[in-house]
Amino acid sequence: MTTRRDFIKKMGVGVAGSVAMAPVMAAQINADPNTWDEEVDLIVIGSGFAGQSAAINAKRAGINKVVVLDKMQVIGGNSAINGGWFAVPRNPVQLAQGIEDDSPEVLVADQVKAGRGLSNPVILKKIADHALDAYNLCIDSGVQFKKDFNMLVGGHSKARAVRVEQGTGGGITQQLYQQGLAEGIDYRLQHYVEDFVMASDAHGSKIEGVIVNKGYRFPETHTGHTVRIKAKRGVVVCSGGFSRNKALCAIVDPALDPTFDCTNQLGATGEVTLTAMNNGAMPVHMNLIQSGHWGSPDEGGFGWSNALLSIGWHKGIGVSVNSGKRIMNERADRLTCTNAMVKQRHADNSPAYPVVFFNYNNYQDDGRVTRAIRDEMAWKFDSVEALAAKFAIPVAQLKQTIEQWNGYVSAQQDPDFNRNMDSAERLQPPFVASRIWPKVHYCMGGLKTDNDGRVLSSKSFQPITNLYATGEAAGGVHGATRLSSCACLEGLAMGFVLAKTLVTDAKEA
Ligand SMILES: Cc1cc2nc3c(=O)[nH]c(=O)nc-3n(C[C@H](O)[C@H](O)[C@H](O)COP(=O)(O)OP(=O)(O)OC[C@H]3O[C@@H](n4cnc5c(N)ncnc54)[C@H](O)[C@@H]3O)c2cc1C
Repeated sequence: MTTRRDFIKKMGVGVAGSVAMAPVMAAQINADPNTWDEEVDLIVIGSGFAGQSAAINAKRAGINKVVVLDKMQVIGGNSAINGGWFAVPRNPVQLAQGIEDDSPEVLVADQVKAGRGLSNPVILKKIADHALDAYNLCIDSGVQFKKDFNMLVGGHSKARAVRVEQGTGGGITQQLYQQGLAEGIDYRLQHYVEDFVMASDAHGSKIEGVIVNKGYRFPETHTGHTVRIKAKRGVVVCSGGFSRNKALCAIVDPALDPTFDCTNQLGATGEVTLTAMNNGAMPVHMNLIQSGHWGSPDEGGFGWSNALLSIGWHKGIGVSVNSGKRIMNERADRLTCTNAMVKQRHADNSPAYPVVFFNYNNYQDDGRVTRAIRDEMAWKFDSVEALAAKFAIPVAQLKQTIEQWNGYVSAQQDPDFNRNMDSAERLQPPFVASRIWPKVHYCMGGLKTDNDGRVLSSKSFQPITNLYATGEAAGGVHGATRLSSCACLEGLAMGFVLAKTLVTDAKEA
């Protein structure tokens, strides 16, 4: 049997995952599609929210041998390191807070607005309709959410975001992993999916299985050995986004600002999406890459900034260091805020990092503040003068901005940016302040699916038989920008949709 590894050796090329190489290798491997090292029913690629929900729901729908493959040494991908914010309309805390007028429809309306005409309302509605199922899957699997916590987050019209007790999505992925193990799902780490094995069928093409580098040790491509695994019922691509793949991001979105750092785990490189495309899958919205507007230039990756700014956006304001004036509606969605922030430049075009600040006294014991100050990505200031001096903000204008802001809080109206003022506070020193700059965060683009998770062929526009995608690997769902807390929802909820699709497809096969 000629394996990809043999082929690479014969050709004298070293690096797996090259976009240009892949079609050649796919053809070589597909020349011998009948030899398998193993046969299973369903292969799920990726162990984040999407993969775990897909696997558990597929298993519960009666699919026997479900195998989850992940290239990394740990479970969970970006889902495990995420902030643990989860949008759930009509969740029990929301109802206890007396918020009765939320619904899946209201959530979808918020998402469609943020998507600026590019979202897919049909899929969004399916996802929203399964929000409570996804939440209950977590609860039943032992996930702990913060007690009595339900918050309004950027771009949403209702407080509907619950948050994992430990403050990261790992509180979900670990519990779902235990649940999946208990239900007989076979999880395999250090299994890097290198390629697909395709065949022709009556509808066009069909995925038969995958070629896997077993024993792979990220990021060393020479580790592991190649095996071929057949999947009788299909392959579900839950391999996440490609925000960490700088070369790919630069190709699909040449306008992406090179000064942006990235929040994602190092393995978020999108090679399975490219492999699917090499094997005939249709891409969509690959150029729509979201930047998080709460990044700090004073720490790497996701860091503490997002948590700190969950106070800052509500209680404080964001100002330009050049003008001392506010630059945006601090409660708007990520795209609106990012667009306002990137305009802040010094004369030499280098970033003039805006500054967000809020009252210190009300939050001095809050872990979000103490951690940030300890790690010097935020600072405490006892006066406006000290704040202005640290960041070289024109002090007279800063004082005027604060005075004007305090008037807006009293009037509960923001004539500058029409911000929702319900959680705004009058500002008075001491302050806690941090610098902000967007970070590459999320891919709205990926594989084009039908509304039930089937990946579409770029040749026929029809589903490629037995190939599915959910979570961040699937594209075209959110449009121009995804609202916060909605990726967690999407990944977990789409598993329910996918299970129905698998059952339907089995009947029709
Ligand atoms: C720091 C951070 C904070 C965030 N906070 C929030 C939040 O609070 N709320 C929210 O809703 N969203 C948040 N997001 C977005 C959200 O976490 C992600 O969009 C979501 O977790 C994606 O889930 P997924 O299952 O699709 O992919 P992932 O969780 O990324 O999982 C993909 C998996 O596929 C595996 N994989 C990739 N390629 C291969 C391959 N070739 N072979 C085998 N396996 C492979 C990866 O190793 C990974 O484990 C955050 C994102 C980040 C980065």
